[in-house]
Amino acid sequence: MTEAPKKLYIKTYGCQMNVYDSERMAEAMGGQGYEQVDSPEGADMILLNTCHIREKAAEKVYSELGRYKPLKVANPDLKIGVAGCVAQAEGEEILRRQPMVDLVVGPQSYHRLPELERQARAGGKALDTDFPEEMKFDHLPQRPKPKRGPTAFLTVQEGCDKFCAFCVVPYTRGAEVSRPVSRILREAEGLVEQGVREITLLGQNVNAYHGEEGSETWGLARLIRRLAEIDGLDRIRFTTSHPRDMDDDLIAAHGDCDKLMPYLHLPVQSGSDRILKRMNRGHTAEDYIRLVERIRAARPDILMSGDFIVGFPEETEEDFLATMALVEEVGYGQCFSFKYSSRPGTPAAERPLVDPAEADDRLQRLQALLTRQQRAAQDAMVGREVGVLVEKAGRLPGQVVGKSDHLHAVHMVANLAPGSLVRARITESAPNSLAGTLV
Ligand code: SF4
Repeated sequence: MTEAPKKLYIKTYGCQMNVYDSERMAEAMGGQGYEQVDSPEGADMILLNTCHIREKAAEKVYSELGRYKPLKVANPDLKIGVAGCVAQAEGEEILRRQPMVDLVVGPQSYHRLPELERQARAGGKALDTDFPEEMKFDHLPQRPKPKRGPTAFLTVQEGCDKFCAFCVVPYTRGAEVSRPVSRILREAEGLVEQGVREITLLGQNVNAYHGEEGSETWGLARLIRRLAEIDGLDRIRFTTSHPRDMDDDLIAAHGDCDKLMPYLHLPVQSGSDRILKRMNRGHTAEDYIRLVERIRAARPDILMSGDFIVGFPEETEEDFLATMALVEEVGYGQCFSFKYSSRPGTPAAERPLVDPAEADDRLQRLQALLTRQQRAAQDAMVGREVGVLVEKAGRLPGQVVGKSDHLHAVHMVANLAPGSLVRARITESAPNSLAGTLV
């Protein structure tokens, strides 16, 4: 008789890189007889893949762990693990504060998860938050599990050397490391064989990519051009980029590589040079604006996306107005904006905060402007013909939903299977999506 698979429940917080890491952890544990399930009830192992970006991230993880206590009491064999950036930042403290946790694993050590699980099953506590010399990717299963949809993430780079004053990534994910070209190509080909037609290349600072290929070092543009040669791979995207790493070759690729989609997430965070300097961003507002001009010269219809932090320590009304002016000048199709909140251990955490009411007011003003721009960019699509990759059935009968080249959600009434790549004419713009008809 074969043994029934053990059940693994993974709860993922945060960014797409964590989504990718959770998939890899599930694959690694698949080799140990685990099968991923959608609910923690009845699981043999629960893993929280955590994110440190949000305010009070560690406290939220401790309170989430508390919710699993009845499950652990009912089933003492249940193993509970904490992974991701909070695991990296808190380390042993998690085992001390929450004794029902059996293992803690940092983002660079996922390949050791099966070993740590065995250690925990043998009755010990397992902890690994090292930054090992070898890359975890080299030790994870090389063939991705069958995908359910036509799009996939593929991590090509991790960590960051930029040390922005507000960010924990250089501390939790470590120094910038790039995966070798050949491994990325193998993984991409495997995904395409399974029906994936669009790949988003991921990295905390993805355009700093510098992967080895024989005796050469490839930048992101060269990697994208090589990926574009894979038959059956129709769309390529990448996120998240730093303005300082947008080199000429990558800008040119936006103009000459048809498979590279016309959408670019390029965070600037502030439009004030004084604040950019305090953030340690290494560029000015003017540098950023000129960069966007060069990108638009290469690909005039590119949709720009960004991130903003409002109320960074010592931000004045004048600094904030410089941010508003930059937004007016660039014109974004999509944006993420947040009120500053400090992260323990970062340089900015030591600095005096802006009055919270003032910061709230600025955030509202910025978001009103960004929402107007986002809506205008969507409305401008009406009447245009766009490519749409169908992802799933829509909520209404006969309806399907997909993503346009510019990453807008598009609804259509059409008899199309997920994975169909079609041309559609946009007929309507709703607050968060477009409607179109098949061309
Ligand atoms: S470039 Fe991005 S990941 Fe790196 S420190 Fe700055 S915000 Fe964090």
